[in-house]
Amino acid sequence: MTQRVAIIGAGPSGMAQLHCFEEARKQGVDVPELVCFEKQDNWGGLWNYTWRTGLDEHGEPCHGSMYRYLWSNGPKECLEFADYTFDEHFGRPIPSFPPREVLFDYIIGRAKKNDINRHIRYKTAVRWVEETSNGKFRVTSENLDTNDSSTEEFDYVIVASGHFSIPNVPYYPGFERFPGRILHGHDFRDALEFKDKRLLVMGSSYSAEDIALQCRKYGSGPVTITYRTNPMGFKWPDGVEEVPLLTHVDGNTAHFKDGSTREIDAIIMCTGYLHSFPFMAEDLKLVTANRLWSDGLYKGVFWMDNPKVMYLGMQDQYYTFTQFDAEAWLARDAIIGRFEVPDRKAMQKDFDAWRAKEEKLETPYDDIDFQADHIADLVQYTDYPEFDLDLTRKLFYDWEHHKDENIVTYRDRAGFQSPCTGTESPAHHTDWWRALDDSMDTYVKQSA
Ligand code: FAD
Ligand code: NAP
Ligand code: MG
Repeated sequence: MTQRVAIIGAGPSGMAQLHCFEEARKQGVDVPELVCFEKQDNWGGLWNYTWRTGLDEHGEPCHGSMYRYLWSNGPKECLEFADYTFDEHFGRPIPSFPPREVLFDYIIGRAKKNDINRHIRYKTAVRWVEETSNGKFRVTSENLDTNDSSTEEFDYVIVASGHFSIPNVPYYPGFERFPGRILHGHDFRDALEFKDKRLLVMGSSYSAEDIALQCRKYGSGPVTITYRTNPMGFKWPDGVEEVPLLTHVDGNTAHFKDGSTREIDAIIMCTGYLHSFPFMAEDLKLVTANRLWSDGLYKGVFWMDNPKVMYLGMQDQYYTFTQFDAEAWLARDAIIGRFEVPDRKAMQKDFDAWRAKEEKLETPYDDIDFQADHIADLVQYTDYPEFDLDLTRKLFYDWEHHKDENIVTYRDRAGFQSPCTGTESPAHHTDWWRALDDSMDTYVKQSA
């Protein structure tokens, strides 16, 4: 009997899973039947830009959280696929911080090479996953065009549905009478909406940093960023500042813990996301905060209570595509019998050791090393192609320094070396702050 594997989501993680099974097939491995359920009408996950917000065309919660003019916030060399390099895809070296459309094109380039599309059922949302009495899984999905439901049995379930899609939306007194727009970063699409508007941005992480700068870049009025725990502390350009936590709003006036006030026209909450798996039965459902060592998972992948259920990409992310690849390769190898998942006790012991390490992390440099160590741990078991992981640690360190030096110009840096080909990245033809057109055509095709 052919085994069957359900993969939930065709974003970078689910695509990595399909891709590495095809790699095994090319080696002559008898690969299980693969069914990838994707609720959107295209692959690429968050990288598949949508103008929609709120509910999508089927009344489903809109998955997309990416916005126009989004550029990679880390060097592309730190997410390069070891078996499909940027040089191979673009035919020549490109700069290190590409806009969204360019990375979307790169992801799809590899996917097309292995024709993984044939396994994906688009516009199909997974509604429920539960274990059967014979140790298999019943997966119920809905075709969003016809509203037909179907239930099928699988031997393994791989959850790759992402965790930066369901917004965490706090309340502050006065919100209900605020006369302007209040939105979460999940619903932010075009910075031009906020031209000349005085903004309050809440949060002190990547979204707050990028959305604040982005709005200013596209002509907003002054931007005030409010932090709960620690300020980001960057040297902000004129018109951007950080202040302590909001206490309440009164009309257009925002009040902060230090007693100061600002007049604002709109509030953008960059307050993070929730891990949300409403389609998983209680005993299979991952419950975790957004952290580097997720709860409940052996090797960051296997659901310890039932390791035939696997989760991909559930960690907070410095490393992205490389990490998803490393996890997908190990998940594949567990399924095709190349990697043996140990008993519960051994899994717990391994988990506890990683958790103890995670709890000692202090600086972003510690975080980077921890996540690189996780990747190194995974790739040692599989045939994921060789690449210079230690070089990527260094590139991430450099990037942290560049951000501290100048938050506006860090994306203009060149000379990042590819961990796969050794190629050094050239400078982009236009400084990021002045590059208002983020199209792929302008980015890669136009000469400097
Ligand atoms: P996702 O990309 O979220 O894909 C999950 C897929 O699962 C989606 O296609 C979704 O439709 C599908 N799905 C969900 N639920 C169901 C269901 N019930 N049934 C069927 N299908 C379902 N990373 C970087 O490396 N560089 C960046 O510059 C960067 N910028 C980012 C900017 C923003 C605003 C955000 C939110 C994230 C950013 N990221 C960035 C991180 C991003 O999480 C990863 O790059 C990557 O998209 C994660 O891939 P994934 O496949 O795990 O999840
Ligand atoms: P995040 O990293 O989880 O950060 C959430 C922030 O919200 C934290 O600063 C947190 O503050 C704050 N917060 C939470 N609850 C709050 C409350 N009740 N009141 C005030 N503040 C609160 O989420 P994120 O910044 O959205 O990043 C998500 C992912 O998107 C990351 O992987 C990032 O790399 C990616 N991203 C990339 C780009 C890009 O430029 N390419 C842009 C945006 C996002 P505390 O510190 O107090 O907990
Ligand atoms: Mg989610």
